[in-house]
Amino acid sequence: MRPEIKEYNYDWMLGSLLKTASGIGNCSEKEIHYLLKEIPYFRGTLSVLLREGEIGFRFIRMLSLYFENLLNARDSGKKVAAITFCLSPALFHAMNIVPVTLEVMTGLAGLLWKRGAYDYLDYGCELGFTETSCSSQRGALGAYMAGLGEEINMFVCDTPGVCDTNANAFAFASAYLDKPFFQLNYPHTIGDDKTKQYHLDDYRDLITFLEEQTGYPLEEGKLRQILMEVDKQDDLLAELEDFHLLKPNPIPVIYNLFIYIGRFLFSGCPEYTALLADMLTAVESNAKTEKSGLYSGKENIRAYMCYIDHYTLDLNFFNWLDQHGIAHIGGILSRNFRDNAGYTANLEKSTYGIDTSNMTTMLSSIAEMNATLPMVRSIRGPLDGPNMWLEESLSLARTYKADCIIYNGTPGCRNTWGMVKPFAREIEAAGFPVHIMYGDAFDDRVETWESTKTRLDEFLSIRGLL
Ligand code: SF4
Repeated sequence: MRPEIKEYNYDWMLGSLLKTASGIGNCSEKEIHYLLKEIPYFRGTLSVLLREGEIGFRFIRMLSLYFENLLNARDSGKKVAAITFCLSPALFHAMNIVPVTLEVMTGLAGLLWKRGAYDYLDYGCELGFTETSCSSQRGALGAYMAGLGEEINMFVCDTPGVCDTNANAFAFASAYLDKPFFQLNYPHTIGDDKTKQYHLDDYRDLITFLEEQTGYPLEEGKLRQILMEVDKQDDLLAELEDFHLLKPNPIPVIYNLFIYIGRFLFSGCPEYTALLADMLTAVESNAKTEKSGLYSGKENIRAYMCYIDHYTLDLNFFNWLDQHGIAHIGGILSRNFRDNAGYTANLEKSTYGIDTSNMTTMLSSIAEMNATLPMVRSIRGPLDGPNMWLEESLSLARTYKADCIIYNGTPGCRNTWGMVKPFAREIEAAGFPVHIMYGDAFDDRVETWESTKTRLDEFLSIRGLL
């Protein structure tokens, strides 16, 4: 790793940038104009967030608070756990543990820094990660393994059989840093009684592990409070997601990012509830006047992201969608598969509910909630199994009237690369044009944004979509 990179703490750099940005809400237009001139690399990303007005600031303040919590964790006597976006942070909030969601931490480096997370990604390889390990964990882990972030006290993941590169990243880092490790296990079906019991028992073991690490028991009242907040968030999300049905779609493209980053960091916390409530108000107002959420004004087509988005400086991918009049109707990351969400009507037995009656029902709720998270739910077994990736993608694309489906991942996504061609063939046969992106959502060096954009433009043109 370059010596100059070793001079700075990763969490502090991201946190201080966001803290400064969160103060811009108090600036005059003239001050913002001059400020943007002084921050050439961060200008593009910040401008997209500023365009959202108070909601953009709320999102920035939420991120800033996340780093404040992380940077103050040790002083406030809290433990820090490295977790994954396939694992709900709600339980960690209930146990006063600061969750570090590695994929978000890497994604933020890509969105906020011109150099992205490149040095940290490469450092992971220097230590033994393969170049095809998932970049979404490797970036932030590179910083933590180099001692450039806050101390991670434990590693917790839950991707057995779902993504080997994800699970291996956690196992590797915990061994390298000599920190405790817990991996939730999960069978290849969801929704049946045997499976539910299995996962509930596994969750109890996780709680025992977390109690040992923190020295404090899980409080029933605190868990209930967090789950009731998740319940409120799910209601808001269900209402918000329904607006994707409208043509034009009144939901701004960038809201999809706000939805899932918020959930990966602050599920069960009031900051995320407030963000969702504001977003819903803004979308309702657009819908009343039949206004598209696109800043380019006119909705030309609608795209369903069957996997993840692309996280590069200036929010290039989100801007590309907006500039082409493409409504982003969500993807695998933005959906939570709560039983009250309209789009789950055709996806029987693969949703979760929340029951706060007692400890057992709460643990069952949180375990099932976890089972519906990205990858755990959709990419846990055969491509065409019930409630799996193909069925889910087709159902969502039909529900929201997609004109095309776009796949993007990382070179590490072996579970999807192994089936993406037959997947695309089946989706095409069902009448949806599919584009497979070959870049890396978190590492622009694999395929530059310019090349990615050229291929996306070519797809729209060749398939007669625009
Ligand atoms: S499935 Fe892909 S994006 Fe998800 S954790 Fe695995 S390698 Fe990363």
